Amino acid sequence: MNLNIDQIRGLFPVLHQEVHGKPLIYFDNAATTQKPKAVIEALVNYYELDNSNIHRGAHALADRATRYYENTRESVRDFINAKESAEIIFTKGTTESINLVALTFGRKFIGKGDEIIISTLEHHSNIVPWQMLCEEKGAILKVIPINEAGEILFEEFEKLLSPKTKLVSIVHASNALGTINPVKKIIDAAHLVGAKVLLDGAQSTSHLEIDVQDLDCDFMAFSAHKLYGPTGLGVLFGKREVLEAMPPFLGGGEMIKEVTFEKTTYNDIPFKFEAGTPNIADVIAFKAALDFIKNLKKSEIKAHEDELLAYANELMKDIKGFIPVGTAQDKVSVLSFNINQMHPFDVGQMLDARGIAVRTGHHCTQPLMKRFGIEGTVRASFAVYNTKSEIEQLAEGVARIARLKNK
Ligand code: PLP
Repeated sequence: MNLNIDQIRGLFPVLHQEVHGKPLIYFDNAATTQKPKAVIEALVNYYELDNSNIHRGAHALADRATRYYENTRESVRDFINAKESAEIIFTKGTTESINLVALTFGRKFIGKGDEIIISTLEHHSNIVPWQMLCEEKGAILKVIPINEAGEILFEEFEKLLSPKTKLVSIVHASNALGTINPVKKIIDAAHLVGAKVLLDGAQSTSHLEIDVQDLDCDFMAFSAHKLYGPTGLGVLFGKREVLEAMPPFLGGGEMIKEVTFEKTTYNDIPFKFEAGTPNIADVIAFKAALDFIKNLKKSEIKAHEDELLAYANELMKDIKGFIPVGTAQDKVSVLSFNINQMHPFDVGQMLDARGIAVRTGHHCTQPLMKRFGIEGTVRASFAVYNTKSEIEQLAEGVARIARLKNK
């Protein structure tokens, strides 16, 4: 089956507008993807028809809202092939999911002299929580180096592993460069020394088939808004036995079995980690995003995006002054680059004037930028609704901007 991109674009209202008098070309998908009509309608329907608090109500609306909320949990389970829906915890996003693990698993199981391994490719949200934990506990943060292409050096990773390693927390696909890490190998090696593994799936889940049972990761964190779903919502997957051994995250309603002034007993997973009224509307609408992806099939989405990335590379490679950043063999559809002697932000603004939305700067990966000796990049990231004609316009824009500089 070949995807009908025109038909897919018809499902995204936001794409059909002009910016600075030019048709919008949206290449900022690694920051957040646009939302199909079905997601927007699910949000409206919830507030118009079903709005109610969940889990505790004795009435029809509460019953309906609870059912829809739990249906999404089951869809997420299916999306990543978790064993059971109790292993799916709703959070505010990848950032909160990682912090949850740091503040519960980390505080309980990581102590003085223990080691946590991350990589040079990490987003700040997979660096800072571990630095904070290390500071609190006297643990040590180790960093896997990368090569010039932006690929981790696996042998160096193996050298870092030891019985002191308690956690390997690693990005599945880099937001700044697009590199796909060999996570299966990483997980297997980490397990050999008894370490747990957290995968930051913020950028991988929209492009790659995910099977957490096959990967055998202990945790996986990702965000709905990068998956054609609503903002302010994310997921933490954790293996049942690991989640059960962890203390709760926030205290409050829903996460308890019984409260007395003397003692509180905690609820079963996943509710133990979902204190308070959750983001009900967005959870319910997220199912429409997951259905959208499932209907198209990830493999078809990836094939289309790979074609766009290859086409962009082909059109841009000979532009004088074009400097690609991140040339890994295995990549998701992220094209990071600089134009010789130009500030990325200026390039971004000039592209914006042509209706082309890209992201510029350090992409919340300052240590990675430092590794390449640069301040930042221009990043064009592609999604299923992007077209070859849009890539041609990007290449034409970049060529013109580079020519201006070379004059
Ligand atoms: N990790 C990666 C690789 C990301 O790309 C992002 C967001 O850009 C995050 C984590 C943080 O995601 P969020 O801001 O949705 O919590």
